[in-house]
Amino acid sequence: MGTQPGASRDATSLDAWLREGGLVVASSDRAARALLAEFHRRRRAEGLSAWRAPKLADWKTFARTAWEERNTEGRLLLNKVQELAIWSEIVRSEQHLPTALPASVRRLAAMAMEAHDLVCSYAPRLLRDEARAGWDQDAGAFSGWLSDFSKECRKSGLTSFSRVPLELIAKIREEPTQREPVRLAGFDRILPVQRELFDAWGEWQAFEPETLESERHFYSIPDGQTELETCAYWCQRQLAVHPDRRILVITQDQAQRRGEIERAFLRFGIPGQIPGFEFSLGVPLTQIPFVRSALLLLRWLHAPLSETELDWLFASGLAANHDESSALQLSMRTLRARDLQRPRWELDSFLNLAPASTLPQEWARRMISAQRSLKEQPHIQSPIGWADKAPILLTSIGWRGAAPQNSIEFQEQRRWMQAVDTAGSLGFDARRIPWTEFLSELEHAAGEILFAPQSVDAPIQIAGPAESAGLTTDAIWFLGADEESWPSVASTHPFLPLHVQREYAMPHASHLVDWEFSKAITTRLLSSAAAVYFSYPAQKGDVETRPSRLISQLAGQAGPLPHDLVTPAHNKPSAYAVEDYTTKAYSGGHLQGGSSVLSSQSQCPFKAFATARLGARGWDPAENGLNAKQRGQMLHDVLHSIWMGRPKGIKTHGDLLAIGDDDLSKFVRKHVKAVMQSSVPVQVREQMPALYLELEESRLTRLITEWLHFEKTRIAFTVETTEAKSPVTIAGLSMNLRLDRVDRLHDGSQLVVDYKTGTVDPKAWDLPRPDDVQLPLYKLFGLAPLQPSLFESYGGPASGGLVFARVRTGDTCFAGRVADAKGTIDPGLSGNSSLVKRRLTATEESAWKEYIEGLAEDFVRGRAEVDPRDYPKTCERCGLQAVCRIQEPENRERFEQQDDEQDGENFDAGE
Ligand code: SF4
Repeated sequence: MGTQPGASRDATSLDAWLREGGLVVASSDRAARALLAEFHRRRRAEGLSAWRAPKLADWKTFARTAWEERNTEGRLLLNKVQELAIWSEIVRSEQHLPTALPASVRRLAAMAMEAHDLVCSYAPRLLRDEARAGWDQDAGAFSGWLSDFSKECRKSGLTSFSRVPLELIAKIREEPTQREPVRLAGFDRILPVQRELFDAWGEWQAFEPETLESERHFYSIPDGQTELETCAYWCQRQLAVHPDRRILVITQDQAQRRGEIERAFLRFGIPGQIPGFEFSLGVPLTQIPFVRSALLLLRWLHAPLSETELDWLFASGLAANHDESSALQLSMRTLRARDLQRPRWELDSFLNLAPASTLPQEWARRMISAQRSLKEQPHIQSPIGWADKAPILLTSIGWRGAAPQNSIEFQEQRRWMQAVDTAGSLGFDARRIPWTEFLSELEHAAGEILFAPQSVDAPIQIAGPAESAGLTTDAIWFLGADEESWPSVASTHPFLPLHVQREYAMPHASHLVDWEFSKAITTRLLSSAAAVYFSYPAQKGDVETRPSRLISQLAGQAGPLPHDLVTPAHNKPSAYAVEDYTTKAYSGGHLQGGSSVLSSQSQCPFKAFATARLGARGWDPAENGLNAKQRGQMLHDVLHSIWMGRPKGIKTHGDLLAIGDDDLSKFVRKHVKAVMQSSVPVQVREQMPALYLELEESRLTRLITEWLHFEKTRIAFTVETTEAKSPVTIAGLSMNLRLDRVDRLHDGSQLVVDYKTGTVDPKAWDLPRPDDVQLPLYKLFGLAPLQPSLFESYGGPASGGLVFARVRTGDTCFAGRVADAKGTIDPGLSGNSSLVKRRLTATEESAWKEYIEGLAEDFVRGRAEVDPRDYPKTCERCGLQAVCRIQEPENRERFEQQDDEQDGENFDAGE
């Protein structure tokens, strides 16, 4: 005879029931663990040293165990992976267009599984095919799948867990004997099928926590971050006064905001002590480095990994031993330095291209041997066979996870083996599958398993609203109680007719259903702790929010945060900024990358120090085709080849004019072809189709032909040198400059030309603090070593010039400074042209010279302060933020302030 829930409200009666050996069924595994912990706490508090284990099971374990005890026909209870495999087969067999892709099949199968579970839990009579006769469209398709699923299960002696309660009801109704009374705990909602089962079972009651008259508060807090910090601060204060107190924090978006929540609670933890909080939900196993590294290693044996996956794998330290991991990271850096990066790496390509000097040979041998061992396996075999093979492969590779070092790793390994066994269980129907399919199943199985380290019974428990059922607590803080989030709403199920979902009051079938369920949870929370705090963020992103109507009804109107709950200002960081005037002089001799280092010194002294002396480098992800740098290099190479002089190239303006307009493109294409033959990196040639390289060849030919048409319009000139090396020494600093091109103009002066395909502006050379000193450096220091006898000495008027050659489709021109642009470049230039208006002067040249010498002196002296020229733009282009720590709040504030002051000065000056 069933008893309605709510009949027992005594807080201690649950404990008394358990102590007397009564059976309790908890709503979830989490609730069962919490009740068990509470039971043991009470026994310890009574001073006992040993006691009888309570009869406590979560709902699923209870139903499964009772079913298995009565499973006389020997039917197989499907696990999730097995059931999904059957649904997938059924969906795939439909030959419906959207189901063609494996990912779509899996998604549809998972949805069908959910719909089946809803039908079993809320409306089992609809399991009969005739009861679904009128279903059409998506629901009609699902109805057909459901019939097939039922047939398959009957034929093969299989059972879905969703059907277990129904089968159990039928079996226990046939039993002549009485079953022991049962008590339920932590159920916010008793499903119709559960109610029917317990009614058939016999005597049952649902425990509810003792109803407490709670103290209720509801606060409006400016934003989500402040809300989290306020909650963490309140928890800390509660525990400081009452160390034994147990606190429950309710949050609805635990998975998405986990990192943010952790940071807020760590901020108010005691440094060096174990954090006093725990999450009720774990994280998917695939996000645990231990498991992710295993999956990547197994995948790499037969498929490429992306560049970022490989970087992560080597940095994780789990793919190899410590020394090998360092060597593998060095291999990746070396590959990039040699311009051999690629977006995806096959194992074979990596082993072939990684430099022998950095590649750990023993590790390479192990990988090759594991790969060979996998290749020697039969192409298809039972998933159980693959499940046995996977750990052997990982051990032979030297995966660090094969030998756990501590308790957490041990727990992770156990869960990992659970995932492997689950994927192996796909062999239940004697299917045989290829390795790739097994690995895909293994990845899905690992994604389904949530991992949380074993509970340490922390005083602060962080849980979702529904998962909090059954947790015992002294005080509660409920986060995110805004109108949009609580009551929580979601869509109805697309595979079940709407009228069916409404008729059986399935979750989310109507606002009323959602409202009632959320109200039941809120009421349970309000009656289960002496103090309950609700809060909501008044602003979410750019949107203003309103307080939850449900909470306002139950806890009163939201008010502002009281003064004593306002969190203290952020602690000062434990690292303090100090002005450091010490310098360490440069004694490295010859400087690599000369002109760019001096430009960096001007942009930010620390940037020059970090790149030239510490070897720090920004990193651009690899691209599939040619990257911008490679394209630019090819353009330089082609122009170098064209202006190299006879026999294949030309040297003068006259030579260029001698090539007829119609022949110019043919002439250029010849040079482009030759350069591409030798310059296209091997990985681009291997990975890109031939058509891609043909298109690239045509693009380059068009671009350079257009450029040469522009050069034809110039006043006569001779190309004196291209790609010329020029050794210089400035303030004791020796370096090699490499000049793209130097032209001898018709007045005998020299023009320094630098090819650019991107956006460039000679304003970057402007004093007092240029962003770029490359061309001034070439003009004022680089020309002298090339032809000392011809070099124009300073002191007289400026001559020649320095220009960017903008080689861009539709925008070919010179941009820079020329002493006499109309007289030496193009007489047709307009007076408004910047080449004419901003002519090169001797004063500017000598100011540049002095400035560049100053930069070299600063670099040699070791001047290396963090001082970006134009914050934040300079930093945005730099990529060294992780090294210089400019993004730390204190540094950022300082430079933002300087920037504002600078803007103010400019404004005052009328700029
Ligand atoms: S990120 Fe900014 S501050 Fe840091 S080194 Fe680069 S330019 Fe300097």
